Amino acid sequence: MSKVTFSPLNDWGIFPAYRPCIIAGPCSAETYAGLLETATALPEGAVLRAGAWKPRTRPDSFEGAGTEALDWMVRVREKTGRRIATEVASAAHVRACLEREVDILWIGARTTTNPFLVQEIADALKGYPEQIVLVKNPVSPEVELWDGAIERLMGAGLRKIGAVSRGFSVGAGSAYRNTPMWQVPIELRRRHREMAFFCDPSHIAGDRKYIAEISQKALNLGYDGLMIETHCNPDEALSDSSQQITPDRLREIIASIKTRNTGDGAPDITLEALRTRVDELDETLIKTLAERFRTTDKIGIRKSELNLTSLQMGRWSEVLSRAVKTGAEEGLGEEFITRIFSLIHEESVASQDKLR
Ligand code: PEP
Ligand code: MN
Repeated sequence: MSKVTFSPLNDWGIFPAYRPCIIAGPCSAETYAGLLETATALPEGAVLRAGAWKPRTRPDSFEGAGTEALDWMVRVREKTGRRIATEVASAAHVRACLEREVDILWIGARTTTNPFLVQEIADALKGYPEQIVLVKNPVSPEVELWDGAIERLMGAGLRKIGAVSRGFSVGAGSAYRNTPMWQVPIELRRRHREMAFFCDPSHIAGDRKYIAEISQKALNLGYDGLMIETHCNPDEALSDSSQQITPDRLREIIASIKTRNTGDGAPDITLEALRTRVDELDETLIKTLAERFRTTDKIGIRKSELNLTSLQMGRWSEVLSRAVKTGAEEGLGEEFITRIFSLIHEESVASQDKLR
């Protein structure tokens, strides 16, 4: 991994110093009047977002007003002083935005998924090192694809780069439209500690009733900012209507969520002591796991001598029931224990198979 430095969010000259930094506005730029109304009603310091070009699942949906919409955004900026942000998915989009000095560009989830397009965008941005670009996570939970997109922008000389978590499309299993899978953005953040991180609770939620809780979760995790779809008349919106909120609701949410310190400052003794204890426990956990695998390998050799299959369903069922019962006594949920033991068991069986 190349060791390049990102420009810190406070040096971008776009957001106020306080957190969270807010980017808000409609999913798509529908009309000049609608944009102006929303921009006027947004909280102070918020950047106006709106999609000029909309990637839609089906071709008969509203796909944005294109460069005309960009011109509306520029006029709104002139009138209100609000900075503007839009999505780019091709070199032509980038050129249209550069011509109009759009303050923030973002690469959408579908585009981050495609390295050809990301490279095309990065090439079009060469020679514009001051341009701010946010990179949404790809549709699938692949940190390398996300990181690769960031690397392509870095390669084009950009430094004002941020990441946006908008959840992953991994099918059912969550009440949300896109599952956050926080461990993926956390891994990206571990790699790039100085990079700005935004969360887009709107596209994670898919439903406006979850925006507040996801926003709070993001702040608990130390995100710098939020991108929230906001529309003066959400139910009439031409795209993503069920997840958009009004500017009033946005103000309410911002007032209700609590910012947390990231803890990167002076160490706290209590926290340090507890962390030391957790490190010791992790060590014990790993040693215990290793001992367990050594033992299941011995079982594997014996099964092989007895010509038994590695997978013994009756035994697995017993192991899991006992683990769930002990887990419950210790206050650990059944789903968690089942997930962890399924993983351990799968690894044991695979290892036993290798010994045959
Ligand atoms: C959007 O922000 O309106 C959008 C299309 O987002 P995503 O790329 O996250 O789906
Ligand atoms: Mn949208």
